[in-house]
Amino acid sequence: MAGYTHLYIPGPTNIPERVRMAMNVSMQDMRAPDFPDLTKPLFAKVAKVFRNSTGRVFLYPSSGTGAWEAAIQNTLSPGDRVLMSRFGQFSHLWVDMAQRLGLEVDVVDCEWGEGVPVETYAERLRADRGHRIKAVFATHNETATGVSSDVAAVRRALDEAGHPALLMVDGVSAVGSIPFDQDAWRVDCCVSGSQKGFMLPAGLGILSVSAKALEASRTAGYPRTYFAFADQIAGNDNGYFPYTPATQLLRGLDVSCDMLLEEGLEAVWGRHARLAGGVRQAVQAWGLRLCAKEPRWQSDTVSAIVVPEGVDATRVIRRAYEAYNTSLGSGLSKVAGKVFRIGHLGWLNEGMVCTALSVAEMAMIDCGIALRPGSGVGAAISHFSSTSPAVVAKA
Ligand code: PLP
Repeated sequence: MAGYTHLYIPGPTNIPERVRMAMNVSMQDMRAPDFPDLTKPLFAKVAKVFRNSTGRVFLYPSSGTGAWEAAIQNTLSPGDRVLMSRFGQFSHLWVDMAQRLGLEVDVVDCEWGEGVPVETYAERLRADRGHRIKAVFATHNETATGVSSDVAAVRRALDEAGHPALLMVDGVSAVGSIPFDQDAWRVDCCVSGSQKGFMLPAGLGILSVSAKALEASRTAGYPRTYFAFADQIAGNDNGYFPYTPATQLLRGLDVSCDMLLEEGLEAVWGRHARLAGGVRQAVQAWGLRLCAKEPRWQSDTVSAIVVPEGVDATRVIRRAYEAYNTSLGSGLSKVAGKVFRIGHLGWLNEGMVCTALSVAEMAMIDCGIALRPGSGVGAAISHFSSTSPAVVAKA
């Protein structure tokens, strides 16, 4: 098909040319004497993106799921009690992993469309006077439903209960896109992956850990090999890895972190908030609703849009792909067929969001949803033109 193929799924996201070109290098020797010239500053840059000034980061050649596993195995022991919540496919999968790894999981089930139930967490933590709960888990941004949670409030719940449990955060579709502050929120393990806010192909599991998590890794009871912190540290301290690293991805990560830090994290977060606002205006103008149940849960990186009763959302997604060369995100598990998702994270601007919205609009109209052509896009345009930063005239 002529023209670009558009990618508006919530990861993998679009790759900036600067990042793509940085990865377009001949294969390099990961044991070369100058390899640490790349890796040592890279570890520091990645830590900056997480706002982690006292711990360290691990870069695994895995996807985000590997980093989930690394976080658990390195800091906890089989049979440990942990507090988790489930309100979408990804929070569900982390619970499933924890159960399969033999943790005693206290799961709080919430409706899909809600986020981390901080009040319930606070009650359970206050009630746990013997401190049996060893870790509290929070999915910062549930990609399946387009729901963001208040991680700072989870930290407050731990502090108010005087509870020493570790704070584990899934930041896969959050870090590098929406506000995240590991230092301020004293997050012990934050998991991410390369293919979302970091604007890279999939293939790196990125884990940012606190000094407390490193301390916990000394006594954690899980046998560990591939993901062992100690093995990573022994290599990383000298700028190397315990096994073959994904060198091109590291080259790309170096540049994507530069881009995030050059734009400034606050500006990156602001851009995501503004772009998400345009998507939400469009959804409202279409007369549709988001899967996120309340405004406080609405994600600035992905919107899951509920189609009218009687319409199969998979048809809308298929129509967008086949007729308009555009990938929209599908509904997963419980919301399959009920929602389509627009990923609005990573290397993205207003024009790109308008493309996603106009294709979504065309595909919905083609599938028989009664919409006024241009209604959603028009609402987004009004939002963008009233909120975009003023252009500074050159002297
Ligand atoms: N957690 C969240 C919130 C996700 O969105 C994803 C993937 O989309 C994962 C975890 C799993 O990451 P991966 O597919 O990189 O293993």
